[in-house]
Formats: sequence, structure tokens, C-alpha cells
Amino acid sequence: MMNWLDSHCHINDSSFREDLDEVLKRMEENDVLKAMIISSYIEDYDFAKTIVHPKIAFKRSLGIYPGDVDDVDEVLFERFAALFEEKKCNAIGEIGLDYHWTSDNKEKQKAIFKQQIELAEKLGKPLIVHSRDAIEDTYEILKDASVKGVMHCYGDDEKWAMRFVELGFYISIAGPVTWKKAKKELAVIHTVPLDRLLIETDCPYLAPSPMRGKRNEPSFVVYTGKKIAEELGVEEEEFKRQLNENYHSLFTL
Ligand SMILES: [Zn+2]
Repeated sequence: MMNWLDSHCHINDSSFREDLDEVLKRMEENDVLKAMIISSYIEDYDFAKTIVHPKIAFKRSLGIYPGDVDDVDEVLFERFAALFEEKKCNAIGEIGLDYHWTSDNKEKQKAIFKQQIELAEKLGKPLIVHSRDAIEDTYEILKDASVKGVMHCYGDDEKWAMRFVELGFYISIAGPVTWKKAKKELAVIHTVPLDRLLIETDCPYLAPSPMRGKRNEPSFVVYTGKKIAEELGVEEEEFKRQLNENYHSLFTL
């Protein structure tokens, strides 16, 4: 039996401090045996490095979140840059552009996104990209990048998805594909080639049905995975095999 995996989780978030052992136990019970832990803060990254389990293979990423760029000065940027070089930092992200809450700082968002891409290129580390209400600018910046990456929690349409696939990127699908009215997400999974799809929880948010509204956790990725396999008419084992292959071809470190 192949395992499931969660390509994007925040189990280092404070909402898991009380019962992390239980959360890891449910991962093991549900065969979610690989996960990428995302950190947007240095303290969260330090904590992520302490999360270990005998049956679960964790990878870690660190990156300056686009919503936080207003708080970033040169000193803080250099602290992130130094940590990117660590062996335990397997990917750079989540980084990107988010114009949903504010677009007054577009130029700073773009600058910090580009600077982090440059470091990833230098280190040969893959990108984990967050893009919200900013797909055109995200594409403009990524089209010149020399490293691969994943468009995490992908929420734009299938035409844009294919443009990122053509750049060599993966498309990661989160819980919303299981919700009612998931029209856009369904169009995306039916368009993107299987060898470019990933799945994730983005927990603690965006729990898939039937857990919608609850705190999300990596074991719930199974609902998302089963839904996609069923929707695509692919055997679950074959889908899991493909997900594992995709995960390892992107996250080689
Ligand atoms: Zn995230």
C-alpha cells in the first residue's frame, strides 16, 4: 500500500501545540506518512525542526509570506536568507504575492518575492508559491525563474494552471475541491496532467468536507486525495503512487 502525503501543512502553528502528538498519531493511522511543514516565521521554523516521528518523513520550508512584507527590514531578511542555506530547509516558501487584503505594497511584495527566488536559484531549492488575487504578476515573475516549484492551494482557473505547468511548476490542490460549488477546482484537476498534481491541507485552515469548519490537520488530506482520485477515475493506489513520485521529483532535497 502506498502512503498519502501532505505537501503543505502548518503543524508548527500554535493551534497544534496542545495535541501535536495526537495529530501525528492520526497521520500514522491514516497513512499520511510524508509532509512538508511550512514556516513563515523563524520561531515556527525552529519549532518545525523539532517535529519528528519514527514513521513519518517530514520536510521543511521557510519563506517570507507576502502578507508580512511590511514588517521586513534588511536585518530580518538576512536572518531568513541565512536559514535558507540550512540543510534542513528543503524548500523556499511560502513566498509570493497576495493582493487580497492590500495591494498598496505591491512593489515591496514583488521585490521580496524576487529576492527570495534569487536565493532559491543560488541554492537550487524549489519554491512554494502563494498567489492570491495576483496571478498575472506572479506569472510575470516566475516565468524567468530557473528553479521549479509548486503553486500551493491553487485557486485560479485551469488556463492559468496550464501556464504554470508549462513553466515546470506543480499545482497543489487543497480542501476546497471537496466543497460544494468546487467548480473551478474541479476544472483544474481535470486539466492539469496527473504528473503535475499535488495535494495538501494548508492546515489549520480550509478543512475538506466532511470536516469543513473544523481545525484542519494533515490526516484530513485523505478526504481531498480520495475525492480527486474518484473524480478523475484513477485507482487510489495509482494516484498515491503518482503523488509520491511528484512530491519527490519536486522536493529532491
Ligand atoms: Zn500555507
